[in-house]
Amino acid sequence: MKKLLLSLLLLVIVLVAVLLFKTSSFKSKQIVTAHGKRKELPIDESAVKHLSDAIRINTTSYDDTTIVNQAAFDSFFTFLKIEYAPVFENLEDTIINQRSLLLKWKGKNETVKPVILYAHLDVVPIEESTKAKWTHDAFSGEVAEGFIWGRGALDDKGSLISIFEALKHLQAKGFTPERTVYFAFGSDEEIGGSQGAAMIANYLRAQKVSFEFYMDEGGMISEGIVPNIKRPVALIGTAEKGYVTLEITANVKGGHSSHPPKESAADVLVSAIKKLHDNQEKRRTVETVNEFLDFVGPEMPAPLNMVFANRWLFLPLILNEYEKSDEGRALLRTTEVATVMNVGEKENVIPSLVSAKVNFRILSDETSNQVIERATKTINDTLIKITVGEIYEPSKNSSSSTYGFKLLQQTSASVFPDAIVTPFLMLGSTDSKHFQDITENTYRFFPVRMTNELLGTVHGINERIGVKDYMETISFYETMLSNLK
Ligand SMILES: [Zn+2]
Repeated sequence: MKKLLLSLLLLVIVLVAVLLFKTSSFKSKQIVTAHGKRKELPIDESAVKHLSDAIRINTTSYDDTTIVNQAAFDSFFTFLKIEYAPVFENLEDTIINQRSLLLKWKGKNETVKPVILYAHLDVVPIEESTKAKWTHDAFSGEVAEGFIWGRGALDDKGSLISIFEALKHLQAKGFTPERTVYFAFGSDEEIGGSQGAAMIANYLRAQKVSFEFYMDEGGMISEGIVPNIKRPVALIGTAEKGYVTLEITANVKGGHSSHPPKESAADVLVSAIKKLHDNQEKRRTVETVNEFLDFVGPEMPAPLNMVFANRWLFLPLILNEYEKSDEGRALLRTTEVATVMNVGEKENVIPSLVSAKVNFRILSDETSNQVIERATKTINDTLIKITVGEIYEPSKNSSSSTYGFKLLQQTSASVFPDAIVTPFLMLGSTDSKHFQDITENTYRFFPVRMTNELLGTVHGINERIGVKDYMETISFYETMLSNLK
């Protein structure tokens, strides 16, 4: 008995020693560990006016591409050319496929690879039923209550105009970057980017340009979004999930609803959707998520830092926490959800042909083929036909130890001294998918502060950017371009 107690005690001592050792060697990955204070930047009224003007030009993308407003894109380019004339004098500009713009800023050193900054010109439509709910009209660009209001303020004109403001400042200083920089502005990110980003990428591919790194929208300086971290967190998207939509169709004889068959087409369809829903994947952490935990873990207060340092023992505890939110669950598996259903037209007629679209977001360790195979096996019903729709494979993981990531990290530390920086897995899809083969390193990051409330306005009601926040975004791009080596 005594022996057993002794060995138990020994075990506990060893365990505690391992936990403590792991915790003490779990070092911060931040460049600046000092808890800095947010900087107070002066408000640049002309920059505010420019963003407000940009919002007023309605560059909405519609699924029906025949109703796209070419004149709006033309006015947008005219607006840029007038307001940022010195930029257009010194950079080479090319219009691609009528509605996208590419600028090239020649650097001093042409032996090093160029970099590319990307933003999109288009915005999502305003739902008719929500128009009245906007505090300030969606295309007013009104400046009120410390915000610039309107569709595109955050997604993605806030970023686009910030890039131009930064360029304007650098032109005024007579600055030339060390490395060549391309600025690409696509016209249809909100509907997949096939006419904008994809065409820009084709153009660059034809010129055999490859990039040191590519930067696009994505993560941001999140406030109160990462659990257990009080400080703001700069989320730099180093990977994004893939995408596939499956249309599942059931075709069973219909008829009068007074004498229904044992199983109608709708029953077959619903049962297939239910099977998919009930057979969700087991949770796991992929490379990008592990890196995220490595970056945020050391910034956690004790004893949470010990929990993150000893994931060999505590990982299930952490994942249980993440499973509590929809975003957290989506980080840990390929997700699926039925989004469109076409079932029946009349209440007393049994429909014979019914269908549903199920949208999958693919985790980085799977391919679309594996997802399709798994879904087919899970449904396992000869009455169901599966058609594959749009596909984007998950992106590869861009390293957090490259020149590009470090430059973003360094710039963030200087412009947002109160924020920690971490790599991050993007749940949504960006135009970066079109550039995967012309750069090894893709960073999805819109350097702007974002609360959960503001995040909810993106594609929603009352989209707006804080005037002070916008000043920081401009400063970020200016600092980053100045420090580009
Ligand atoms: Zn966007």
